[in-house]
Amino acid sequence: MTETNRVKLKPGDTIGILGGGQLGRMLAMAAARLGLRCQIFSPDPESPAFDVVLNATCAEYADVEALELFANDVDVITYEFENVPASAVLVLSARRPVLPDRKILETTQDRLAEKDFVTRLGIGTADYADVSTAAGLREAIARIGLPSVIKTRRFGYDGKGQAIIREGDDPDRIWDDLGTKSAILEAFIPFEREISVIAARSVDGHVECYDVTENEHRDHILKVSRAPAAIPDALAEEARHIAGTIAGALGYVGVLAVEMFVLAEAGGPKVLVNEIAPRVHNSGHWTLDGASISQFEQHIRAIAGWPLGKPVRHGPVTMTNLIGDEINDYRRWLTVPGATVHIYGKGTPRPGRKMGHVTEIGLHSKAAE
Ligand code: AMP
Repeated sequence: MTETNRVKLKPGDTIGILGGGQLGRMLAMAAARLGLRCQIFSPDPESPAFDVVLNATCAEYADVEALELFANDVDVITYEFENVPASAVLVLSARRPVLPDRKILETTQDRLAEKDFVTRLGIGTADYADVSTAAGLREAIARIGLPSVIKTRRFGYDGKGQAIIREGDDPDRIWDDLGTKSAILEAFIPFEREISVIAARSVDGHVECYDVTENEHRDHILKVSRAPAAIPDALAEEARHIAGTIAGALGYVGVLAVEMFVLAEAGGPKVLVNEIAPRVHNSGHWTLDGASISQFEQHIRAIAGWPLGKPVRHGPVTMTNLIGDEINDYRRWLTVPGATVHIYGKGTPRPGRKMGHVTEIGLHSKAAE
């Protein structure tokens, strides 16, 4: 029996969460409902997740002593963002089980390793190439064609660390601007829509996928998610099967999100995997109000060694992110019939900063009318 399989929390036990953003906050709130405590580890003294837990560690991820003390205080450790430094996870996993497992972070922190992994499973992605020099970029463009998308292998999010390359662009300049030595070039996918699947996998290998979500981005940041996605049933089933296959192949415990493109093809639409997020995900926030069990609760259940729930969706659901100054409109949202408002308790609403979200159940977003 592995260390992971031995995790079986009981009410009153404590979960350690690395990261103090809104995802950590919503995980801690879901845990509290199940009688579990959480302790947050975050270097940011303004972490919104600190507000909802009794015990918090405010320290750097390089602070070994703080990590050790944190590990001693908790029964299992999880994280709310995928760029947790590997060195921190190494220190922690010597003391307590860390779920999802640290080998998963190695795969999902690196776009090349992730694409190789997905490809080995026989699952489609955009054509891609490993690029480490300007000359390598020119060769990759010759093979993959234009337009294409160059992305840093590590630490990219919300469209950061990536650029579209079009006919007539200067690859040398784009390479210099990217300022990295390791990147991948991907074929540009003229997608019909973007979708994601939130999947949960338990310690004993049971998988539960939510209905496929359709996502709209604005300035590279998720703006609206709708569930279910307006795609044929067979395609939705395929997307959910892909997410389950990935979770199984990773030996995953917890919730993950798989972002995909839907591409119109002569023989019918097909899905290509864009990215795996080894954590609860913004496109799953609708599950808080739109399903009987939220993605946050599923994650807590999985890492606690508890049975997963069978989530039932309450109807067509729309989730709208409140980004930057949009949070100032919260009083209007509070009066929208049927809307549920979530405010993350973050300080300053900087442009692009996710400050809250609103869920609406029913066919149309009333706020948009
Ligand atoms: P990512 O950081 O990989 O999730 O990409 C952010 C967003 O950029 C995606 O949600 C897409 O809207 C767009 N994008 C990323 N890769 C591609 C691609 N290969 N083709 C077309 N659009 C892309």
